[in-house]
Amino acid sequence: MKKISIVVPCYNEQEVLPLFYEEIQKVMAQIQQEHNDTTFELLFINDGSCDTTLIQLRELAKKDPQVRYVSFSRNFGKEAGMFAGMENATGDYVVIMDADLQHPPKFLPEMYNYILSGEYDCATTRRISRKGEQKLLSWFSRKFYKIINKISQTEIVDGAQDFRFMTRKMVDSILSMKEYNRFSKGIFSWVGFRTKYIAYENVERAAGTSTWSFWKLFCYALEGFFAFSTAPLTISSVLGMVSCLVAFIMIIVIVIKKLCFGDPVQGFATLICVIFLMSGLQLFCTGISGQYLAKTYLETKRRPIYLVNETEADLKEETES
Ligand code: UDP
Ligand code: MG
Repeated sequence: MKKISIVVPCYNEQEVLPLFYEEIQKVMAQIQQEHNDTTFELLFINDGSCDTTLIQLRELAKKDPQVRYVSFSRNFGKEAGMFAGMENATGDYVVIMDADLQHPPKFLPEMYNYILSGEYDCATTRRISRKGEQKLLSWFSRKFYKIINKISQTEIVDGAQDFRFMTRKMVDSILSMKEYNRFSKGIFSWVGFRTKYIAYENVERAAGTSTWSFWKLFCYALEGFFAFSTAPLTISSVLGMVSCLVAFIMIIVIVIKKLCFGDPVQGFATLICVIFLMSGLQLFCTGISGQYLAKTYLETKRRPIYLVNETEADLKEETES
C-alpha cells in the first residue's frame, strides 16, 4: 500500500474549505480508481485563523477518518505551515497545496504518474501566465526572479509554485533544513532532486481574499535575497571601494589645482551633496550588513518554527473521555 499525504496550509479559509474538500474528494476517488493500492491522508494546517476554519476542520476530522489537522497557537505564516505539514505527514508521498483552489487538484493524477514513473522525485506546476494579477505586481515579480537568479547560486524558477508532489526522500531532505528564516522557493531547488514542471495558466482564487499585500510580497522577496545570496554584501563592499577611489582622485585633483594653478577651493554646495551621498551610501551598506546580522541573530535563537495548540488526536481523546 502507498500513502499520499496532502498538506494544506489554511489561514482564514472558511469560504473555500468546503469547496476545496469537495474537489479533493473527487480527485482522491479518481486516483484510487486508477491505483487501488493508494490511500490518502488530508492534513490541514490551521495557521492561527480567526474565522471558523478550525471549527470546520474539527467537523471534517470527526466525520472523515482520512482528515487530520494541526492547529497553531497563532499565525506563523505559510512557510511554517508547510514545514509543519511535512513534519507531521506520515505518507510515502507528500503533496503541498493551497486551500483556495489556485493549485488545481485536477493536476494530482498527472503528477502522481510522473512520480510513479520513477523518473522524477518531485512534480510541480509552473504558471506561464500571471492572469488576474495586478500589472505592477507582475512586473516586480519578473524583476525579482531576474535579479535573484543573477546573484544567487540556487536557481529560482519564475512561476514555480509551492504546489508540489514529492517523494519521502525529498521531503526528508527539506525537513533536514531546520533554518528559521524559510524561503521555500529557494529550499525546493537547493535540495536538488529531479523535478518535473507542468505548465499551466494562472487560476484566480475560488473565494475569500489573498493575504499577500504588496508590502508583504516585497518583504518576502527581500527574504529570498538575504536567504539565498550574499551578493548584497559584495555589492556594498564594492560600492565602498568605488567611492574611496573617487574620493582619492578628487583629492589629487584639488591638491594639484591648488598647488599648480593657485585655484581657491570652492564648492560649498558640492561638498554638502557629497556628504549626503556618502552618508546615504554608508547607511545603506550598514543596513545590508544589519539585515544579515539580524537573520543570524534570529537563527542563533533556535526558536521553534511553529507551536501547536491542538491536533485531531486531542479531538479523539476528548470524545473518548
Ligand atoms: N496561508 C497560511 N498562512 C498565512 C497566509 C496564507 O497558511 O499566514 C495559506 C492560505 O490559507 C492559502 C495559502 O497559504 O492556503 C496561499 O495563500 P494566499 O492564497 O493568501 O496567497 P496567494 O495565492 O495570493 O499567493
Ligand atoms: Mg491563493
